[in-house]
Amino acid sequence: MTVNDIPAVDRALKKEFAAHASPIIELIEAQTHDPFCVLVGTILSARTKDQCTTGAVQRLFAKARGERFAPADLERLSQDEIEKLIYPVGFYHDKARHLKELPHVLKEKFDGVLPNTVEELCELPGVGRKTANLTVAVGFDLPAICVDVHVHRICNRLGLVKTRTPFDTEMALRKILPVKYWKTWNSHLVSFGQTRCGPVRPKCDGCPIIRLCPAAAKTCGKTASNGGALTRAPGSGRRARR
Ligand code: SF4
Repeated sequence: MTVNDIPAVDRALKKEFAAHASPIIELIEAQTHDPFCVLVGTILSARTKDQCTTGAVQRLFAKARGERFAPADLERLSQDEIEKLIYPVGFYHDKARHLKELPHVLKEKFDGVLPNTVEELCELPGVGRKTANLTVAVGFDLPAICVDVHVHRICNRLGLVKTRTPFDTEMALRKILPVKYWKTWNSHLVSFGQTRCGPVRPKCDGCPIIRLCPAAAKTCGKTASNGGALTRAPGSGRRARR
């Protein structure tokens, strides 16, 4: 695909996205309209399935004393309590430590006000570019491109970028992706990566963007040029399609 194909790809992936459950971070935003809650949910969701994150978020947010979960609630809870509440999300011990430190660092560096830039958010404990970008895009509704393993893999498979790391992909996308797609690009591609274009054996059969995908021939024996028809060599079987 080329940059000219971005609108068509986004349209197709938006349709696929609508057919599946919303990501947990978008649900948190819809329910709280609070960037701090989005940040906490995003920290918990790293390397964790949405179902597991959902339980952790519900248990943690149930400890809110006010209308919504706030830094003061993290201050009041001990690290052990946080750890028990968020278990079994991935790296729950480290995440509990980071969450416990969060209110203090927020006060020290930002007068207790959650910043809305990627660079500033990255100064908070446990916050890397992926978490920061997602918080800016979903929590603050500002343009940001969150690149995780799904976005990195799919953009490279499609030939939109040729990069080695998610950071390089983010920088490349910043140059070629029109800003109007920034906020939703992550949701659409993550959902697509989880349901169809996974890291191994993507489900190319019936993929709505196969005609634009140069990787289809390598991943499942189909090509853009043959309209998605199988191109197995005589005598090749299941093994050859992997
Ligand atoms: S054709 Fe296959 S590899 Fe290409 S985007 Fe679709 S599922 Fe992914």
